[in-house]
Amino acid sequence: MHCMSTFQRLCIKKIAQNGYRFSSFPNTTNSISGYNFRLNDTQIEIQNLARKFTRDEIIPVAAYHDKTGEYPIDIIKRAWDLGFLTGHIPEEFGGLGQNVLTSCLIDEEFSYGCTGIALALTSPGLAQTPIILAGTKDQQKKYLGRMVDEPLSAAFCVTESCAGSDVAGIRTKAERKGDEWIINGQKMWITNGGVANWYFVLARTDPDPKASINNAFTGFIVERDSPGIIPGKKEQNMGQRASDTRSVTFEDLRVPKENVLSREGAGFKIVMQTFDLTRPSVAACATGLIQRCLDEASKYANERTTFGVPIAQHQAIAFLLADMGIAAELSRVAWIKGAWECDFGIKNSYIASVAKCFSADMANKAASDAVQIFGGNGFNSEYPVEKLMRDAKIFQIYEGTSQIQRLILSRYIIKHAKQLM
Ligand SMILES: Cc1cc2nc3c(=O)[nH]c(=O)nc-3n(C[C@H](O)[C@H](O)[C@H](O)COP(=O)(O)OP(=O)(O)OC[C@H]3O[C@@H](n4cnc5c(N)ncnc54)[C@H](O)[C@@H]3O)c2cc1C
Repeated sequence: MHCMSTFQRLCIKKIAQNGYRFSSFPNTTNSISGYNFRLNDTQIEIQNLARKFTRDEIIPVAAYHDKTGEYPIDIIKRAWDLGFLTGHIPEEFGGLGQNVLTSCLIDEEFSYGCTGIALALTSPGLAQTPIILAGTKDQQKKYLGRMVDEPLSAAFCVTESCAGSDVAGIRTKAERKGDEWIINGQKMWITNGGVANWYFVLARTDPDPKASINNAFTGFIVERDSPGIIPGKKEQNMGQRASDTRSVTFEDLRVPKENVLSREGAGFKIVMQTFDLTRPSVAACATGLIQRCLDEASKYANERTTFGVPIAQHQAIAFLLADMGIAAELSRVAWIKGAWECDFGIKNSYIASVAKCFSADMANKAASDAVQIFGGNGFNSEYPVEKLMRDAKIFQIYEGTSQIQRLILSRYIIKHAKQLM
């Protein structure tokens, strides 16, 4: 039984009225230009609600959670209550069937308030995506439906201490024994590792080192309360400290064969397809951080005076602000295109990597420049920008480092050039 909040009911009604897409996208015959950046009424309403939630619930406690590293469970419960955390789940399992673009709008708003709290709120979506993409109806009903019934978390377990960028280098193995799989290994840097109700786990199922990566790995859904799962201590990270990052060890963990996603050997492909869907969201989160840098730095630059004038009147400072404005706009355009391609069923790996890479690099530049604009105050935790700089760094690392994004992009570019020869 999936209970719907008033917000969810309102949204479903609105979807029926307006559809979930840019309002005048060229289905209409009178469209001249094609691209259109106007949000529809539902999206504007959701964006406004997310903005209000960020202002009222996230910003006031962001510094506290950064300092203590406390997992923001109360905020998660309130966000879930309002329907923010389940909108992306298909309607038949109790969600709203909300498209990627609308989810990213929410992600950007939450991240404006605190990217650490935003990560705690949105990262269960990363674990749910393989099930949305490749799960059977029974798996979807059981594991997605559970997220609609209760404010639960989930974790996506791929990285190991020996292999992050090189996913095919993972050593966690799963062996078939009758109707079960036995998993042994250790995952590292797992967001929600200690708070998840269930895990998506990638394991090697073909021990032959020469086996093709498209057949050697399998994705499993694993219940947290199964014997043999040992989460490690919460890691003390540089930024996004409200999020729960841990190792997770599997010791003779028994998983029923019904919990294999898609088929034996399909795991690597499922993980790569998952990133196509979730990288626009990471880019939207980085964009939220850039916008925050811009707002904090431009306000400060108008207030702080040196040599008898506000520092905003020194061209060196004004141009840093202009660069931040450019970064915010273009990062936003990039994630919008990445999400839009997903929503229209277009293969979006290229633009998803462009968006993730650009927004992550820009977030780091914007945060560093914001600290510079604040001068000595920028280096101090009484002011908001040093946290932004610490929080920004991880955008260049998780869900594929900036180098890996460039690797993906350069492979596409070189392959395309060869085809033209
Ligand atoms: C806070 C946090 C949360 C995370 N959450 C999750 C999670 O929920 N689930 C999960 O599975 N993982 C998670 N990760 C792991 C993250 O995705 C990996 O850390 C990341 O993919 C990089 O892998 P690595 O740390 O092994 O670095 P490495 O792969 O060892 O890379 C080290 C450096 O070498 C560079 N490099 C590597 N290969 C190449 C190459 N071929 N060409 C050029 N440069 C290269 C990298 O860009 C990087 O700069 C998280 C990590 C952190 C820190």
